[in-house]
Order: sequence, then C-alpha cells, then structure tokens
Amino acid sequence: MKLKVKYKKGKNFFKVKALLKVSNLKTICEESDCPNVYECWEELSPSFLILGNYCTQKCSFCNLKFSKEGEIDPEEPLRLARAVRYLNLKYVVITSVRRRDLEDEGANHFKRCVELIRELSPSTKVEILIPVMERENLKVILSSKPDVLSHNLETVRRLSKRIGRDYEKSLEVLSFFKGKLITKSNLMLGLGEEEEEIYQTLKDLKEVGVSILTVGQYLKPKNSPYPVKKYYKEEEFKRIERWAKELGFKVFCSPRVRTSYHEVIKLFPSQSPPW
Ligand code: SF4
Repeated sequence: MKLKVKYKKGKNFFKVKALLKVSNLKTICEESDCPNVYECWEELSPSFLILGNYCTQKCSFCNLKFSKEGEIDPEEPLRLARAVRYLNLKYVVITSVRRRDLEDEGANHFKRCVELIRELSPSTKVEILIPVMERENLKVILSSKPDVLSHNLETVRRLSKRIGRDYEKSLEVLSFFKGKLITKSNLMLGLGEEEEEIYQTLKDLKEVGVSILTVGQYLKPKNSPYPVKKYYKEEEFKRIERWAKELGFKVFCSPRVRTSYHEVIKLFPSQSPPW
C-alpha cells in the first residue's frame, strides 16, 4: 500500500507561508519535505525549525542539508515568539537542527525561544523537540520548562546506527527528563524493522519514562538516500497501537502521523494536556 496524500492549499496555508517569509523563519515542515505540509498549515499548525537549516548530523532518512558549522541568529527567538502570537497558537512545536559546533549545542537559544513565547503568549503550550545533547546542555533545556519535551528515537536499536542515529544516546536523553517533564517520542515504520524489534523499542521507551508516542510511516524525502523498506497496512498500525496502549502510552499511530502532525496537536486542549 502506497501512501496517498491529499493536496490542499487554502488561505491559511498562504497566511503561514507569507508570515514565514516576512519573519524570516523556517519550519521543519518545509525543510523535511513533510507530506503533511498543506494540511498542517491550513490548520495553522506549522512546526518551527530554529538554529538554522543546516544540520551537523547526517541522518540518512532526513532531508536536511549537512554542514559542519552554522550561524546563530540572536533575533530569531523574538521573531518566533511574535509569529506564535500572530497565529494565536494554542500549542506550538519547536525543533532544531543538531548544532554540535556550539558549546551549548543551541540549548540557550531553545530556552530563549520558550521564555519569549511565554512572555508574549502566556497561555500557549510549548513543546520542544530536541536533538541529542550533552547532559550539561540538557540541564539548560530542563530549566526552560517546556510543557512537553520531545526527542525522537525514530527506529529500532539494530537500525539506529545505519540511519545515522545513536539508540543508546537517545534513550539517555529521554531518561534524563524522566519524572521531570512530560516526554514524547516518535517512531518511523518502514525502515526495515521486525515486529519483535518494534515491541522491544516500545518497552525501552516506556522504561525511560516516555508517556506520549507517535508512530507513522516512513516516506523517503527527496534528498534522502534511505529507501522505504515496507509500507505498513492499517491493521499493522492498529496492532502496534494496541501494544503501545497496553504498555501505558498515550499513542497516535497511523501512516500520516508525525511528532507535530496537526491531528496529534489538536487533541491537546488549550489548558492542560490530557495525560
Ligand atoms: S506533520 Fe509536523 S512537520 Fe509535517 S507538516 Fe505537520 S507540523 Fe509540519
């Protein structure tokens, strides 16, 4: 089964597009070549990408361009906070490229973004989706007190290195926040994983305290060399969703789901998340 994505460009899509241009802001929606972009933007639910659009990590499933180093734009947090206020977002997801070239790996920039959003839009819930960082920098992230902390494991242990990730390091990141923040993670299916490995991964995520899980179908972005190994059927998604529920996750599991997919975000009430 190949995934068919509805093409929809409405007036809100153009509103978001114009805002991004004027504000000189980036989204992971565009940079990752996400198939949901028309739909999420029409729902006024873009996911912002901070700290540049060149990543210092090369993941083979990802569309982002690689660079050993990059610039930091100190005005970006304020422009982002103003954009969030302009769109009147109840919930916003902010993510970044990995910045190994910076001593703090971008942690203080994340913190500034959260602080300014809190200042300009006090009722907006903020989720930050962070890359792997060192412990000292995770402490800075923790001090920014986001409503939800996301870090994506993406795949099973056996395939992690192959796609440019470090399974154990990611579990360490999530484990750092265990009991301190609500944590969320994402898995992509279709990279060549086996069912038992998926189940083991769910158990590993549970072990490190993750409470919210998103699971979607991997689709090869245009700049990614990693092929889709399998398209999962609806009933297979249902089975994985059942496992996750049995393990106690709040889970969103279907082919279109991504960490920041608007169908996931809109289930979060404006006052407090349902977990
Ligand atoms: S799923 Fe996330 S990355 Fe994709 S378009 Fe929606 S908000 Fe953007």
